[in-house]
This record gives sequence, C-alpha cells and structure tokens, in this order.
Amino acid sequence: MNLEHHFAQLGEAFSAKTLIQPLSEQRLVEFNPALADFLSIDFKSDETKRQLSGEVPVPESLSMVYAGHQFGGFSPRLGDGRGVLLGEITGSDGRLYDLHMKGAGLTPFSRRGDGRAVLRSCIREYLASEAMSALSVPTSRALALYDSRQAVYRETPEVGAMLLRTAYGHIRFGHFEYFFYQGKHAELDQLIDYCLQYYYPECLDTDSPLENMLTEVVKRTAHMIAKWHVIGFQHGVMNTDNFSFTGETIDYGPYGFMEDYEPDWVCNHSDYEGRYAFSRQPGVGLWNLNCLLKCFSKRLEKHQLVSILEQYEVELQAHYNGLMLEKMGLVSDASLQAVLTPLLTILSVEKLDYTVFFRLLSHLKPDEFTPLLDEVVDRQRLQDWLLNYQAVRLEEGRSWEVVSQSMLSVNPKFILRNYLAHEAIQAAEQGDYLLFRRLLNVLNRPFEEHIESEALAQRAPSWGKSLEVSCSS
Ligand code: AMP
Ligand code: MG
Ligand code: MG
Repeated sequence: MNLEHHFAQLGEAFSAKTLIQPLSEQRLVEFNPALADFLSIDFKSDETKRQLSGEVPVPESLSMVYAGHQFGGFSPRLGDGRGVLLGEITGSDGRLYDLHMKGAGLTPFSRRGDGRAVLRSCIREYLASEAMSALSVPTSRALALYDSRQAVYRETPEVGAMLLRTAYGHIRFGHFEYFFYQGKHAELDQLIDYCLQYYYPECLDTDSPLENMLTEVVKRTAHMIAKWHVIGFQHGVMNTDNFSFTGETIDYGPYGFMEDYEPDWVCNHSDYEGRYAFSRQPGVGLWNLNCLLKCFSKRLEKHQLVSILEQYEVELQAHYNGLMLEKMGLVSDASLQAVLTPLLTILSVEKLDYTVFFRLLSHLKPDEFTPLLDEVVDRQRLQDWLLNYQAVRLEEGRSWEVVSQSMLSVNPKFILRNYLAHEAIQAAEQGDYLLFRRLLNVLNRPFEEHIESEALAQRAPSWGKSLEVSCSS
C-alpha cells in the first residue's frame, strides 16, 4: 500500500500525531472491493490489512485540528475527536484520496467524548455514503467496516465499531476559521497554499489563485446542495466543521432521505429549532460560505468576496434546474416553470413518497394515469396536473419511450429508508449482516429493478415512520 503523508508535513500547528487504537476483538466485517481496487489496496495482504485496522501502527497518522460554527455559535477548537487520518493514497484517476478512520479512539481533540463510534452510526454512514455515491453526489465513501466485542456507552451500551472512509479531502471550512480567529496568518497562508497545490491546482497558474479557488469552492458547495435537494437528502448537522473545502458530503450523522415529501422536515431530533430543516439547507449553505469567506478578509477586498459569494445562488439554482429537468423528463426551462411548483405543492399536501412518486412518473405511459392517481386522495387535482405535464412533454416532441428510459436512469427505485437502516442495524448488532449487504447491493445500483429485492423499495410501515435519529453516535 502506497500511503503518502502530505498533510502530516504541514506540521504541528495543523494536527497531532495519533495512532489508531484498535477495539477489543475487532473484526473486519465488510470492505468495498470496487473502491479498494480503484485505490490499489489489497485486502488479501495481511500487512495491508493490519496497517489499515491499526494493529500495525502507521507512525505518521494524525488527528486534525479545526474550529467551527455549531448551530450558529462559534467553537474555537474542535478537531478530530475520534478520527484518524492514516495518510493519502493515489487512485487510478491519478488523484489523491484521504484514508480516514472514524471511531479510532481518544485524540487530543476528544474533549468530553470517548473517541469511539458505535456500530449503529458506522452502518448508517456506510450505507448512506455508498447510496449517495451511486446517486452521483460528491461524498466521502466507505472502504471498510470493523465491529468488535467492545461496549461503547451512549444512552445504553452499544457495539463499538470503526469505519474506514475515503474522500478527496477532510479539510473543513472550520480549518480556516481555526487559524483566522486566532490571528494565525502564516498558518492560514500555509493552508491556502496546501489546498491550491493538492485540491485546486488548476487555479495556481491564474492571476488570482485564491479568488479562483474560492469561487470553485462556492460552486462545488452550491452543486452539492442542489444535488441533495433533487434526491431528497437532508444532512442534519450542517455546521461549518462538517462542510468540506472540497465540496464533498461528509460527516454522516443524523441525516435523512426524504420519504413522505415534507419541505420543512427536520431529520435530526436534536435540532429543536429546525435550523437544518430540508427547506433551509440552501440558505445554510450560503451562511456557511459567508463564514468561510470571512477568513479571507485580510487577503481579498470586500467587493471580491461579495462577488464570489454572489455566485452561490446563481450556481445552485442553475444546477438544481438542470437536474430537475432530467428528473422530470423535460428540456426547456419554460416547461419546468409550468409544472414544477404545482407538483411540489401536490407532493407536500398529499405527503407522497418522493422516491416512489418520481419512479412511477418515469414509468408513466400516455393517458395511463391510474398508477399515479391511486397514490393520492385528491385525484382530480393530480389528474389536472398530469394532463398539463403530458401536454408539456408532447409539446417538447421527444420520443416518450426515450424520455421514460432516461428518467429511469436518474430517478432511483431504492433510497436508504430509515426503517431499513434501523432493521439492518438491529440485525448487525446480533452479528447478522445479511440485510446490511442486501441493502448495500441495491443502493449501489439504485436505478436497476432488483426484482428479488422488491421489499427494499417499499414505504415504511407505520412503526418505521416515527423512528428518531439524533446527534448521539
Ligand atoms: P459531529 O457533530 O459529529 O460533527 O462532531 C462534532 C465534534 O465532536 C467533532 O470535533 C468530533 O470529532 C467530536 N466528537 C463527536 N463524537 C465524539 C466522540 N465519541 N468522542 C470524541 N469526540 C467526538
Ligand atoms: Mg463533524
Ligand atoms: Mg460526526
């Protein structure tokens, strides 16, 4: 395994040397063969396996220091309280990827935490990040899952576990806030240079590298959030320490995938004020970028920062519209204007299952509205909408069949329903990973039919709608 250690070379101001501390009777229960191949990591090699799991120490491994705005308030010193960065490794696309272990034990940044993660949260992250990746959302990915016989205490004793994950980077908005608010300008410059070199090299040879890099961060963040909205993903804890400078979805905690369509839904039961409600995510993205850009206020003029930030809304709206057009099988903005808002109103009034509805819409045949009408109470209202939608599609003049096929390739049949994650976790806690693996299989190819796994596309039974998820993991 060719581990590199670029971040470690930034020195002590940025991280603390930290080894993975294996759990007692730790077991590798799953690894991601496609991702392992992509990174040329050989899980058959004992030496590699022992290094990855922490049984053989990687001396350069580290925990990062950062700060962050948590639910609006600034925490000047956070950091990886239970995460260890093993190093970076080159993928077959020639880019560098971080290898990061979650739940690896105490670090200098653990504060009052125990440095551990429970199996429940590792499984939730594994499934969600793989689902997001298959839906083409920029995201960290799961490489391997370890369980153990070590009890980790949350509200009750739970099974301790670790999750090995990859991402382009684990540098967060909060990394910049950490140095900026302490007035550590030399370190801030070092971090800027590091990000330019490793993440935004295309900006290096321009007349304003920093300005161009930040513009790119704004764009990537806007695209990521647009994508979340199109698939119905809610992050749950959009603090600036959970926002990546590389525009990837990271830190899967009390997230949720939209089932019944409710724009103001709050998936995180610890988010009492609904700060991170689904409908608020675009605004929070802007708020977070504002926090980030403030850190460059000694390096760029105010008008430059404002104009970088102004691109957020434009990028988010344009990207969202483009994706929504595909989702609805349309090509022109005028068509989208005519049908989208009334549809979202119907979805929300009827509390329709977001994924099931769009999958049925993809299968729609001209004048055969029954399968969709059977989903609603107010049939007349949906029928009127469908007649209008059909007229718009006919007006656009594309082959019905071709459009239907392309809609089926963007509207998933399978998303990670909370009750299924819950059932997979309960089984895994008893040592049975069958449902976890079956879920992983459909979530990795969510646009295919998987007839044998029809049950995994079903809506939650009533007990499964009231399950709570919170920050405790
Ligand atoms: P999160 O809300 O998961 O992004 O975590 C916020 C901060 O708390 C980060 O600095 C985490 O590293 C830290 N943290 C979360 N859980 C633990 C834990 N069990 N032990 C130590 N630190 C933790
Ligand atoms: Mg975090
Ligand atoms: Mg977390």
